[in-house]
Amino acid sequence: MKDDWRKRIESKFPRQKTPAEVDKEREEERRRHDHAEYARKLARHQRRFKCHIKGCTKRSGGPTHLDPHEVGYGSAVRWDSPRDLEQCLRCHRWTCREHIHSSICKNHA
Ligand SMILES: [Zn+2]
Ligand SMILES: [Zn+2]
Repeated sequence: MKDDWRKRIESKFPRQKTPAEVDKEREEERRRHDHAEYARKLARHQRRFKCHIKGCTKRSGGPTHLDPHEVGYGSAVRWDSPRDLEQCLRCHRWTCREHIHSSICKNHA
């Protein structure tokens, strides 16, 4: 049987990570964190922004994304502005497209 001395060296002296590898791991860690952060924010956003019409379960499709070129870096995601919902002009509550007409929700019909 062949003596695998190279493997023995590897297990005795673990290879040091190169700076590039350390950077990559840090980047992945950050991305995972950002992802979790986004999911948390989205859940909070959808709890806050949902159709107020009785029996309707429609929620915001997510925050509005603005064109980063227009708004500058960092403010491209508008968490205070839901997608797929419209604010009723009379009661100012969020309403899904099915329950709003001419910007007035079903409750005032
Ligand atoms: Zn209304
Ligand atoms: Zn609705």
